[in-house]
Amino acid sequence: MTHRTVLVINSGSSSIKYQLVDPDTGEALASGLVERIGEGRGSLTHNYDGKKVTEDDPVPNHGAGLRRVIELCNEVGPNLSEAGIVAVGHRVVQGGAYFDSATVIDDDVVERITELIPLGPLHNPANLKGIEVARELLPDVPHVAVFDTAFFRGLPKAAATYALDREIARKYQIRRYGAHGTSHQFVSRLVSDHLGRNDLKQIVLHLGNGASASAVVAGHAVDTSMGLTPLEGLVMGTRTGDIDPAVVFHLRRVAGFEIDKIDDIFNKRSGLKGLCGHNDMREVQAAADAGDPEAVLALEVYAHRLRKYIGAYAAVMGGLDVLTFTAGVGENDHRIRSAACEGLEFLGITLDPVRNETRVAGPHRISADDSRVTVLVVPTNEELAIARQCLEVI
Ligand code: AMP
Repeated sequence: MTHRTVLVINSGSSSIKYQLVDPDTGEALASGLVERIGEGRGSLTHNYDGKKVTEDDPVPNHGAGLRRVIELCNEVGPNLSEAGIVAVGHRVVQGGAYFDSATVIDDDVVERITELIPLGPLHNPANLKGIEVARELLPDVPHVAVFDTAFFRGLPKAAATYALDREIARKYQIRRYGAHGTSHQFVSRLVSDHLGRNDLKQIVLHLGNGASASAVVAGHAVDTSMGLTPLEGLVMGTRTGDIDPAVVFHLRRVAGFEIDKIDDIFNKRSGLKGLCGHNDMREVQAAADAGDPEAVLALEVYAHRLRKYIGAYAAVMGGLDVLTFTAGVGENDHRIRSAACEGLEFLGITLDPVRNETRVAGPHRISADDSRVTVLVVPTNEELAIARQCLEVI
């Protein structure tokens, strides 16, 4: 049978994650990960047809990594010339004020993404590397940039604007751009389809290693927790989320820390990891079960922040119809879901404990029959979302 497929590439600073997706069925025909690019020992995993190939040869750069992936496809499968690739979809984190939807990549688009590096210094350079090498190696298909910020490009000004000196904000393009937009859009659309309604007031909680909340009214995002960068908002695996910016001044003036060190602490050494030493929620839960008071507090801080955002977004929308949990923690951790909803009966949120604890593949309802708000668990699929967005623009 002939497929049409999209090769989805998520290029990080030292890694390339890829998936060959059939956008019609959602099936992942092949997937893999190249890691430790530029280090002494690389790591490559390629999955196809139930087979898993691993290698640990050095991968000097992104070009070499992607070239090896293409060779492996042709050695192990799937044969790329027969795979029906109609597009290559690239995840790009920061689309700034330019991009409100997926865009076919040409030299101008590359230039714009390059211009946006100051707004996405941790991600855009890595995303650009992936685009550059993939365009070279797969020149005969359209390449599409799918932006993490695009779904939030149309946020109401009141939600997107920081109360910062307006001249400075304008000059340096400081506003709330959001992130994880591909997931929030995919999940909120799926919820609308699942419930057969397009007028819903929704909150989506994307709780993975990174975590974000969005408020969506009738398919349009009206608020989101990530800001200029993915640092703002919820407590994450290693990021602080919301914190008084004066902590930066304090650490600079009192502790004498350099700004890059503070950046590193806030992005990589805080969140759950900073609070209790573990960034993986399974380990935090295990430590809390074993009686570790720091892990118990980490869970309390995490859930407190979630409840605060649920209340805030219900107020922003003037009501709430559906609350949805997604991503690694949201899809798998019933205790976090229950802690996030605790005490919110006044908002119309009542979980059914048995439904909440029952594992079901695909979207499922975990609220009680008499809960005014429908609470759902919906698996996100960012690769499929990227693949489908590619088809919309090619
Ligand atoms: P993601 O970024 O969506 O891949 O989510 C990754 C995170 O999901 C991991 O760091 C874990 O903290 C969390 N996770 C995955 N499985 C579980 C589970 N069964 N229970 C709790 N957390 C989980």
